[in-house]
Formats: sequence, structure tokens, C-alpha cells
Amino acid sequence: MSKDIKVALVTGGNRGIGYELVKQLALNGFKVILASRDPEMGHEGALKLKELNLEVSFVTLDVDNQESVSQAAITVNERYGRLDVLINNAGVYLDENKKLVSMDPYILEKTMATNFFGVYHVIRSFIPLMEKQGYGRIINVSSEYGAMSEMSYPGVGAYKMSKFTLNGLTQLIAAELNDDIKINAVDPGWVSSDMGGPSAPRTPKQAAESILWLATIGPEGPNGGFFRDGKRIDW
Ligand code: NAP
Repeated sequence: MSKDIKVALVTGGNRGIGYELVKQLALNGFKVILASRDPEMGHEGALKLKELNLEVSFVTLDVDNQESVSQAAITVNERYGRLDVLINNAGVYLDENKKLVSMDPYILEKTMATNFFGVYHVIRSFIPLMEKQGYGRIINVSSEYGAMSEMSYPGVGAYKMSKFTLNGLTQLIAAELNDDIKINAVDPGWVSSDMGGPSAPRTPKQAAESILWLATIGPEGPNGGFFRDGKRIDW
């Protein structure tokens, strides 16, 4: 493979913001791996993009399942031998209008399993591929709901907690990284998708555009930051 063709992987790439991230990365010359927990939806999504002559392949990856995560890393290593960009996009939003103290604890556990532990396991499994070449860009798709200021208001507690801890994870891993490997968190805004609902003002395309600059930052670029539309925002 030519040295300058970079390989990118997007979790939850089969729909919503993730699908648009896959498409735009491919339009920008990346070889893209659309990761999806549902093989049928993943294959279908990758096929649609291949029909547009885009370099997109598919891998099964359920971020809640450590076996699935490590198998996906093995597959990517066998297929490409490298990973340049990892976008942790897969996420769930399960607790609108519920209180933490009275909700079924499973809602918090499930939300943390996907939005926090899922990201942790994906990073752990894929970072050796980046360390191998001393280069990598990791983007965690977070939310303004994860900002410290949001913790003073009730509601959406499981989701808020999951993105708050994801933001902490972003900073902790940034502090551990060596070489030219960078990790940042980004808020895509309120986006019309199954999660965001139809009245959201931003399209998945706009959201993807607001995220992808972090995939191509140079060695002088930020590490351990939180951004919206290219501007730093408060944790
Ligand atoms: P979406 O349309 O609901 O899509 C969520 C994606 O995550 C789907 O591909 C889904 O796969 C995948 N996913 C969920 N659990 C998974 C798991 N265990 N393993 C692998 N994939 C899993 O949501 P979206 O709006 O595109 O959101 C994408 C990201 O942006 C999320 O992290 C979300 O928190 C964040 N975000 C969204 C908004 C918004 O307004 N939409 C605002 C701020 C932040 P399936 O198809 O298999 O369910």
C-alpha cells in the first residue's frame, strides 16, 4: 500500500453521523473501515459507498463486546497492517426525562457500557496499530451534555455521565500518549439522526464536516482538547 494512503475506522458507521463520517473520509482519500455491530447493515452501508467508487470496507464491531472489539482489531491488522484515524462515534442515548435516582440502574450501566467502556476497549485494542507506526489521530464523539456545567442540571443523567467520563478519558489518554499520536473530543452539535430526532438544526453532513478537521491535524495540532466547530470549548 502506498505510504500516503491513510486508513480510518469509524465505530457505529452504519447510520447517522457515523455513516456520514465514513463517506467524507473516503471522499477525502482515506481507505475507510465502516465498523458496525450489525453485519447486514454494515455490509449494506459499505456497498452503497463502494457504488460511489469510494474505498470503503466493513468490519463487525460491537463496542459492548470485548471479544468483538479485539477480533475487529485483528482483522484490521491482517487487512491493512495499520490504522491512522480512529473515530469513536458509536453511542446510545437511553434516558431522556428520567432521574438517576429513580431510573432502572440498567439504563446507566448500559449507557456507560457503550459510551464509556466501549470507547475505552476500542482504544486499548487499536492503539498498538498506531504505536507500530508512531502515528495516529483518535477522535471521541462526545457531547456538550458531558460538560461540567451540565452536571448542575437534572435530567439525561446517564447520558451526561457517560460523556463526562468520556471527556475525562480523553484527557487521561492524551497525557499517556507518546510519538505523534493525538486524541481529542468533539461535540457535533444537535444533529438530525435517529438519536437527535427530526427537529435538530444540523445535518449529519454538517456534523461530520465539523469533526473531520481533527483527523488531519499535523504534529503541532491539539492533543487532549474538547472542540465544537473547530473551537475549543470548556470541559
Ligand atoms: P444514531 O443515529 O442513533 O447512531 C448511533 C450509532 O451507534 C449507530 O450506528 C448504532 O448502531 C451505533 N451503536 C450503538 N451501540 C453500539 C454498540 N454497542 N456497538 C457498535 N455500535 C453501536 O446516533 P448519532 O446521532 O449518529 O450519534 C453518533 C454519536 O454522536 C454518538 O456518540 C452520540 O452520542 C453523539 N452525539 C449526537 C448528537 C445528536 O444530536 N445526534 C449530539 C451530540 C452527540 P446500530 O445501528 O446497530 O444501533
